[in-house]
Amino acid sequence: MKTLTVLLTLACVSAAWADAPGPVPPPADRELARHILRELIDINTTHDHGTTAAAEVMKKQLLSAGFAPEDVVLIAPADKPTKDNLVVRYRARKPGTKAVLFLGHVDVVEAKREDWSTDPFQLTEKDGWYYGRGTEDMKDGVAALLETLIRLKREHYVPARDVIVALTADEEAGGDANGPAFLLKEHRDLIDATVAVNLDGGGGSLKNGERLFYEIGTSEKVYATFTLETTSPGGHGSLPGPDNAIYRLTDGLSRLDKYKFPVMTTATTRASFEKFAGLETGAAHDDRLAVARDTPDPDAAERLSQNVKLNAQLRTTCVATLISGGHAENALPQRAKATIQCRMMPNDTIENVQTLLTNALADPKISIKLDAPPILSPESPLTKEIMDKATKVVHSMWPKVPIIPTMASGFSDGRQTRTAGIPTYDLGGLWMDVDDNRAHGRDERIGVREFDESVEYTYRLMKAFGAK
Ligand SMILES: [Zn+2]
Repeated sequence: MKTLTVLLTLACVSAAWADAPGPVPPPADRELARHILRELIDINTTHDHGTTAAAEVMKKQLLSAGFAPEDVVLIAPADKPTKDNLVVRYRARKPGTKAVLFLGHVDVVEAKREDWSTDPFQLTEKDGWYYGRGTEDMKDGVAALLETLIRLKREHYVPARDVIVALTADEEAGGDANGPAFLLKEHRDLIDATVAVNLDGGGGSLKNGERLFYEIGTSEKVYATFTLETTSPGGHGSLPGPDNAIYRLTDGLSRLDKYKFPVMTTATTRASFEKFAGLETGAAHDDRLAVARDTPDPDAAERLSQNVKLNAQLRTTCVATLISGGHAENALPQRAKATIQCRMMPNDTIENVQTLLTNALADPKISIKLDAPPILSPESPLTKEIMDKATKVVHSMWPKVPIIPTMASGFSDGRQTRTAGIPTYDLGGLWMDVDDNRAHGRDERIGVREFDESVEYTYRLMKAFGAK
């Protein structure tokens, strides 16, 4: 996952801080980070290839940096030997204090050479950009974490609590059977922590080279899928009657299409709308403030909902994504099915969604079945302690940028730690242009300067969270 919740209509910020460059690491560390990024991009870690080759390279680097072999663990589910996860423990002076967990995923989405201008599995530097699959999602973050561990070790840094870094497999595909889900289920002791920092979310948004704002992710929507089904007696195609499974289903779907789930906000989305209001003017400002209240203003919510990204912030959404029906060209259908993809607000419930869906379809002959129990992902509380820590690090890098708590409309591995009871904060360090996000797409790229800054940021972030 790597989607920023861009909510802004503003064209530019026109403030002095907006285009001031941030600090970068000392030259040797900058070179090491670039070297690691190149190594990682050059190893294909798509679903078919797996992560073990990359995990082994990283393990070797950590061992030669002085990490004890027992603190650098390669581990995969027994039936997935090519999908290793690498878990590193940077020990505190005193054992026993509860740890902080840093999360990053090593696997990437497939990329075809013929679709790209460069070889996606070879890091290419061109005009101030790094091109390659995973440069943004998220080998940049993995390289920054690895370089930070090596740098801290060289500097003889000792954290006040254990710092665990989990560089995992299968985020982009099969995430329920591997990655943090597998580690939490089978080896919780390896990654158990009181708080988690996920670099696969959050981060900065640029427009025309100017900094707009930095997002800290506290939550994400919950993924749930329902199957609708209708049946009818069927018969010869020459003798249609009143009861037809396909029409019954599509009539219900038309009603669902017009239905809007009730407006629902969370502590995060209210804070988010309030902060974004401060960056807007006129009606855009007023409407954001009006939905940020404890009781959101329905007219303002209705106006904002015309924008699909804002709509997704304001309510649970459910949409038809697949449909099938009938069994022969010349026969009346006996059965029709549709898949309904829901993205629930983190404070919504599956029972509530199912009831509202049933009401919207308004036909008791349309059956509704939940495909699988969803992975609930409760909002991580936006405590003063976390906000202060994040603000201190972000502003040490990029003074004065607005910091905005957000809920992602998609999901990441953060849902695994959140559902396991570990509050998780998305605190990525990369700045990306709001209009040029190529994660999962062709010619994925990041700015060279932005990468260097994200490495320095990760170093400061790990020290801040390692300090308790
Ligand atoms: Zn990702």
